[in-house]
Amino acid sequence: MSPADARYRRVIAVDGPAASGKGTLARRLAAHYGLPYLDTGLLYRMVARAVIDDGHDIRDADHAAAAVAALDGRSFPEEALRGREIGEAASVVAAMPAVRAGLIERQRRFAAQPGGAVLDGRDIGTVICPQAGAKLFVTATPEVRAARRHRELTGRGEPATFDAILADIRRRDARDSGRSDAPLKAAEDAVLLDTSALTIDEVLAAAIAIVEARRAG
Ligand code: C5P
Repeated sequence: MSPADARYRRVIAVDGPAASGKGTLARRLAAHYGLPYLDTGLLYRMVARAVIDDGHDIRDADHAAAAVAALDGRSFPEEALRGREIGEAASVVAAMPAVRAGLIERQRRFAAQPGGAVLDGRDIGTVICPQAGAKLFVTATPEVRAARRHRELTGRGEPATFDAILADIRRRDARDSGRSDAPLKAAEDAVLLDTSALTIDEVLAAAIAIVEARRAG
Protein backbone atom coordinates (compact mmCIF):
# COMPACT_ATOMS: atom_id res chain seq x y z
CA MET A 1 0.00 0.00 0.00
CA SER A 2 1.44 3.40 -1.00
CA PRO A 3 1.51 6.26 1.55
CA ALA A 4 -1.32 7.94 -0.37
CA ASP A 5 -3.47 4.82 -0.04
CA ALA A 6 -2.67 4.50 3.67
CA ARG A 7 -3.96 8.03 4.30
CA TYR A 8 -7.41 7.07 3.11
CA ARG A 9 -7.55 3.57 4.62
CA ARG A 10 -9.90 4.64 7.41
CA VAL A 11 -12.21 6.65 5.17
CA ILE A 12 -15.79 5.46 4.86
CA ALA A 13 -17.29 6.52 1.51
CA VAL A 14 -21.08 6.62 1.35
CA ASP A 15 -22.52 7.27 -2.10
CA GLY A 16 -26.03 7.05 -3.49
CA PRO A 17 -28.90 8.95 -5.12
CA ALA A 18 -31.04 11.69 -3.55
CA ALA A 19 -33.06 10.66 -0.50
CA SER A 20 -31.62 7.14 -0.44
CA GLY A 21 -30.88 7.48 3.28
CA LYS A 22 -27.14 7.98 2.74
CA GLY A 23 -26.99 11.22 4.74
CA THR A 24 -28.66 9.73 7.81
CA LEU A 25 -26.50 6.64 7.53
CA ALA A 26 -23.27 8.59 7.09
CA ARG A 27 -24.03 10.76 10.14
CA ARG A 28 -24.79 7.69 12.26
CA LEU A 29 -21.66 5.89 11.05
CA ALA A 30 -19.56 8.94 11.92
CA ALA A 31 -21.06 9.03 15.43
CA HIS A 32 -20.53 5.27 15.85
CA TYR A 33 -16.84 5.41 14.87
CA GLY A 34 -16.19 8.87 16.35
CA LEU A 35 -15.11 10.23 12.95
CA PRO A 36 -15.60 13.67 11.37
CA TYR A 37 -18.36 13.79 8.76
CA LEU A 38 -18.68 15.78 5.52
CA ASP A 39 -21.95 16.07 3.61
CA THR A 40 -20.43 16.87 0.19
CA GLY A 41 -23.86 17.66 -1.31
CA LEU A 42 -23.80 20.82 0.80
CA LEU A 43 -20.79 22.09 -1.17
CA TYR A 44 -22.72 21.88 -4.44
CA ARG A 45 -25.77 23.40 -2.72
CA MET A 46 -23.61 26.34 -1.52
CA VAL A 47 -22.32 26.98 -5.03
CA ALA A 48 -25.88 26.93 -6.40
CA ARG A 49 -27.07 29.23 -3.59
CA ALA A 50 -24.26 31.71 -4.30
CA VAL A 51 -25.05 31.81 -8.04
CA ILE A 52 -28.76 32.38 -7.35
CA ASP A 53 -28.18 34.96 -4.60
CA ASP A 54 -25.86 36.91 -6.91
CA GLY A 55 -28.64 37.05 -9.50
CA HIS A 56 -27.03 34.84 -12.16
CA ASP A 57 -28.57 32.11 -14.27
CA ILE A 58 -27.95 28.71 -12.67
CA ARG A 59 -26.69 27.40 -16.05
CA ASP A 60 -23.96 30.05 -16.22
CA ALA A 61 -20.78 27.96 -15.85
CA ASP A 62 -18.43 30.97 -15.53
CA HIS A 63 -20.32 32.39 -12.57
CA ALA A 64 -20.61 28.96 -10.98
CA ALA A 65 -16.82 28.50 -11.24
CA ALA A 66 -16.31 31.98 -9.73
CA ALA A 67 -18.66 31.04 -6.87
CA VAL A 68 -16.51 27.97 -6.12
CA ALA A 69 -13.38 30.14 -5.94
CA ALA A 70 -15.11 32.56 -3.54
CA LEU A 71 -16.73 29.90 -1.36
CA ASP A 72 -14.42 30.28 1.64
CA GLY A 73 -15.46 33.89 2.13
CA ARG A 74 -19.18 33.13 2.39
CA SER A 75 -21.52 31.43 4.78
CA PHE A 76 -25.08 30.29 4.34
CA PRO A 77 -27.72 29.45 6.91
CA GLU A 78 -28.58 25.73 6.78
CA GLU A 79 -32.22 26.44 5.85
CA ALA A 80 -31.06 28.33 2.74
CA LEU A 81 -29.41 25.12 1.51
CA ARG A 82 -31.94 22.41 2.32
CA GLY A 83 -34.98 23.28 0.18
CA ARG A 84 -36.25 21.37 -2.80
CA GLU A 85 -35.27 23.91 -5.45
CA ILE A 86 -31.73 24.25 -4.22
CA GLY A 87 -31.20 20.47 -4.55
CA GLU A 88 -32.29 20.71 -8.15
CA ALA A 89 -30.04 23.76 -8.77
CA ALA A 90 -27.12 21.96 -7.08
CA SER A 91 -27.42 19.10 -9.56
CA VAL A 92 -27.18 21.62 -12.43
CA VAL A 93 -23.91 23.17 -11.20
CA ALA A 94 -22.62 19.71 -10.20
CA ALA A 95 -22.60 18.70 -13.87
CA MET A 96 -20.06 21.47 -14.66
CA PRO A 97 -16.48 20.15 -14.81
CA ALA A 98 -14.97 23.42 -13.47
CA VAL A 99 -17.23 23.28 -10.42
CA ARG A 100 -16.32 19.65 -9.69
CA ALA A 101 -12.60 20.29 -10.21
CA GLY A 102 -12.73 23.30 -7.88
CA LEU A 103 -14.24 21.25 -5.06
CA ILE A 104 -11.99 18.17 -5.22
CA GLU A 105 -9.12 19.38 -3.06
CA ARG A 106 -11.18 20.47 -0.06
CA GLN A 107 -12.96 17.11 -0.03
CA ARG A 108 -9.66 15.20 -0.22
CA ARG A 109 -8.16 17.35 2.56
CA PHE A 110 -11.12 16.51 4.75
CA ALA A 111 -10.82 12.81 3.91
CA ALA A 112 -7.10 12.74 4.73
CA GLN A 113 -7.54 13.65 8.41
CA PRO A 114 -5.61 11.38 10.75
CA GLY A 115 -7.93 8.68 12.04
CA GLY A 116 -10.20 8.83 9.00
CA ALA A 117 -13.50 10.46 8.07
CA VAL A 118 -16.94 9.71 6.70
CA LEU A 119 -17.95 11.48 3.46
CA ASP A 120 -21.25 11.14 1.65
CA GLY A 121 -22.05 12.15 -1.91
CA ARG A 122 -22.18 10.76 -5.43
CA ASP A 123 -18.52 10.25 -6.37
CA ILE A 124 -16.67 9.70 -3.10
CA GLY A 125 -15.77 6.07 -3.81
CA THR A 126 -15.11 6.61 -7.52
CA VAL A 127 -13.34 10.01 -7.81
CA ILE A 128 -12.69 11.78 -4.50
CA CYS A 129 -11.36 8.85 -2.56
CA PRO A 130 -10.90 5.73 -4.70
CA GLN A 131 -8.56 4.36 -1.99
CA ALA A 132 -11.22 4.55 0.76
CA GLY A 133 -11.05 1.51 3.03
CA ALA A 134 -14.83 0.99 3.01
CA LYS A 135 -17.33 1.99 0.34
CA LEU A 136 -21.08 1.78 0.57
CA PHE A 137 -23.51 2.49 -2.25
CA VAL A 138 -26.90 3.21 -0.70
CA THR A 139 -30.03 2.82 -2.80
CA ALA A 140 -33.81 2.62 -2.42
CA THR A 141 -36.61 2.59 -4.97
CA PRO A 142 -37.62 6.02 -6.35
CA GLU A 143 -41.06 5.62 -4.71
CA VAL A 144 -39.58 4.94 -1.26
CA ARG A 145 -37.17 7.86 -1.64
CA ALA A 146 -40.00 10.18 -2.74
CA ALA A 147 -42.12 9.13 0.25
CA ARG A 148 -39.22 9.87 2.63
CA ARG A 149 -38.51 13.25 1.05
CA HIS A 150 -42.25 14.07 1.10
CA ARG A 151 -42.40 13.35 4.86
CA GLU A 152 -39.27 15.42 5.47
CA LEU A 153 -40.45 18.45 3.45
CA THR A 154 -44.01 18.50 4.78
CA GLY A 155 -42.56 18.07 8.29
CA ARG A 156 -40.61 21.28 7.69
CA GLY A 157 -43.74 23.03 6.40
CA GLU A 158 -42.55 23.09 2.78
CA PRO A 159 -45.61 22.31 0.62
CA ALA A 160 -45.03 19.62 -2.05
CA THR A 161 -47.04 16.75 -3.52
CA PHE A 162 -45.71 13.19 -3.62
CA ASP A 163 -45.97 13.13 -7.43
CA ALA A 164 -43.97 16.34 -7.83
CA ILE A 165 -41.24 15.00 -5.54
CA LEU A 166 -41.12 11.68 -7.39
CA ALA A 167 -40.69 13.62 -10.65
CA ASP A 168 -37.88 15.69 -9.02
CA ILE A 169 -36.12 12.55 -7.89
CA ARG A 170 -36.31 10.89 -11.30
CA ARG A 171 -35.04 14.05 -13.01
CA ARG A 172 -32.18 14.44 -10.55
CA ASP A 173 -31.24 10.72 -10.88
CA ALA A 174 -31.13 11.09 -14.67
CA ARG A 175 -28.98 14.24 -14.50
CA ASP A 176 -26.61 12.87 -11.84
CA SER A 177 -26.18 9.49 -13.58
CA GLY A 178 -26.05 10.88 -17.12
CA ARG A 179 -23.39 13.59 -16.73
CA SER A 180 -20.00 12.89 -18.27
CA ASP A 181 -17.90 14.11 -15.32
CA ALA A 182 -18.05 11.92 -12.18
CA PRO A 183 -21.52 10.44 -12.82
CA LEU A 184 -23.44 8.87 -9.96
CA LYS A 185 -22.47 5.20 -9.97
CA ALA A 186 -21.28 2.55 -7.57
CA ALA A 187 -17.52 1.99 -7.40
CA GLU A 188 -16.58 -1.53 -8.46
CA ASP A 189 -15.51 -2.35 -4.93
CA ALA A 190 -18.53 -0.73 -3.21
CA VAL A 191 -21.05 -2.83 -1.32
CA LEU A 192 -24.66 -2.14 -2.33
CA LEU A 193 -27.09 -1.46 0.47
CA ASP A 194 -30.78 -1.27 -0.51
CA THR A 195 -32.59 0.56 2.28
CA SER A 196 -36.11 0.31 0.77
CA ALA A 197 -37.41 -2.18 3.34
CA LEU A 198 -35.07 -1.41 6.25
CA THR A 199 -35.38 0.79 9.33
CA ILE A 200 -32.60 3.28 10.10
CA ASP A 201 -31.26 0.99 12.83
CA GLU A 202 -31.20 -1.97 10.43
CA VAL A 203 -29.37 0.09 7.81
CA LEU A 204 -26.79 1.18 10.39
CA ALA A 205 -26.24 -2.39 11.61
CA ALA A 206 -25.78 -3.64 8.03
CA ALA A 207 -23.36 -0.81 7.27
CA ILE A 208 -21.27 -1.44 10.39
CA ALA A 209 -21.03 -5.12 9.44
CA ILE A 210 -19.78 -4.12 5.97
CA VAL A 211 -17.20 -1.68 7.37
CA GLU A 212 -15.96 -4.23 9.90
CA ALA A 213 -15.65 -6.91 7.21
CA ARG A 214 -13.64 -4.52 5.02
CA ARG A 215 -11.37 -3.52 7.89
CA ALA A 216 -10.81 -7.14 8.91
CA GLY A 217 -10.11 -8.19 5.32
O1 C5P B 1 -26.80 14.96 -1.68
P1 C5P B 1 -27.55 16.18 -2.09
O2 C5P B 1 -28.97 15.91 -2.51
O3 C5P B 1 -27.47 17.28 -1.08
O4 C5P B 1 -26.77 16.72 -3.38
C1 C5P B 1 -27.26 17.77 -4.18
C2 C5P B 1 -26.73 17.58 -5.59
O5 C5P B 1 -25.31 17.80 -5.56
C3 C5P B 1 -26.88 16.18 -6.18
O6 C5P B 1 -28.09 16.01 -6.88
C4 C5P B 1 -25.69 16.06 -7.10
O7 C5P B 1 -25.97 16.56 -8.38
C5 C5P B 1 -24.64 16.94 -6.47
N1 C5P B 1 -23.61 16.17 -5.79
C6 C5P B 1 -22.60 15.66 -6.57
N2 C5P B 1 -21.54 15.02 -5.99
C7 C5P B 1 -21.49 14.87 -4.66
C8 C5P B 1 -22.53 15.36 -3.84
C9 C5P B 1 -23.60 16.00 -4.45
O8 C5P B 1 -22.63 15.76 -7.79
N3 C5P B 1 -20.43 14.26 -4.12
